[in-house]
Amino acid sequence: EGGPVNVAEQPKPPKRTVNLTHPDRVYWPDAGVTKAGLADYYTEVWRLMAPFVVNRPLALVRGPDGIGKPLFFQKHGWKGMTKNAVLVKDPTDPAEEDITIRDLDGLLGLVQGATLEIHPWGSTLDDWEKPDMVNIDLDPGEGVSWTDIIAAAHEVKRRFEDMGLVAFVKTSGGKGLHVVAPVKPKAEWPEVKAAMKALADGMAGDDPDKYVSTITKSKRSGKILIDYLRNGRGNTAVAPYSTRARPGAPVSMPVEWDELGGAIGPNYFTVNNAPARIAQQTNDPWGDFRKAEAPIEFKAKKKR
Ligand code: ATP
Ligand code: MN
Ligand code: MN
Repeated sequence: EGGPVNVAEQPKPPKRTVNLTHPDRVYWPDAGVTKAGLADYYTEVWRLMAPFVVNRPLALVRGPDGIGKPLFFQKHGWKGMTKNAVLVKDPTDPAEEDITIRDLDGLLGLVQGATLEIHPWGSTLDDWEKPDMVNIDLDPGEGVSWTDIIAAAHEVKRRFEDMGLVAFVKTSGGKGLHVVAPVKPKAEWPEVKAAMKALADGMAGDDPDKYVSTITKSKRSGKILIDYLRNGRGNTAVAPYSTRARPGAPVSMPVEWDELGGAIGPNYFTVNNAPARIAQQTNDPWGDFRKAEAPIEFKAKKKR
């Protein structure tokens, strides 16, 4: 796929500096991805991924024996955690020590600790209370077509634009899409979450045959849950470029809006094919993410 690659023009990924124990341990048997392969993947994507994972509280999905074996969702530091990552005290809850990283060594240290997924907060350590991004997670019920999920993403994009925000889209690496917008950190979590709930309720209200905004109704097949609950204090969503602890070693992949179509499904990109795609792309789909940040306009401009 894509044109010829001029390797010389690509920035060289940094060289791995963190020592791994059991580098040949297989984390994704079906995709043939080992612990060393995971570390090499993150080393390759680091320059693109860094802005979304550095300097934020992180939750992790860890799985010492890989997928298909027990996984645990890790929100706080643990005994034996890498020294390359940093523990930070939650300012409103000093009993809690959250995990953060400053650099690639931090991420590779987490890989050494069997981290298979990275889930950052939507705010940074500079201001825990004020999100600098919002995220609408589109969760399709049984029988929803990919075309309909893409249409839902465009609808979220339009509604973000009505709030003064610029929307970016990524595959979840699972079943859906995530529409994410950079936000100027001015408003605090409760106000932002209420605005995201209003967006989700608005979509469900205007198109009740297609969308639901409450978890209980999400069981209804044929509809898409507009999951706004990623937008609360301490809630997380999987990071761009994070691997998923699911079959095939999928990754959550930033894409261009006009790329969304039949060829690229929600788990199309994987540890095995993402680096080549990144090497070939002429434009980084999320390259302007931070530059595009804007304050949320809370007052709806007009009734849709
Ligand atoms: P999919 O496309 O399959 O929906 P997804 O990443 O959107 O992929 P969801 O199940 O919709 O997956 O999202 C759940 C979110 O909740 C995750 O992004 C994660 O940050 C968070 N989460 C996952 N497991 C836990 C847990 N055990 N406790 C708290 N939060 C969790
Ligand atoms: Mn989802
Ligand atoms: Mn969800």
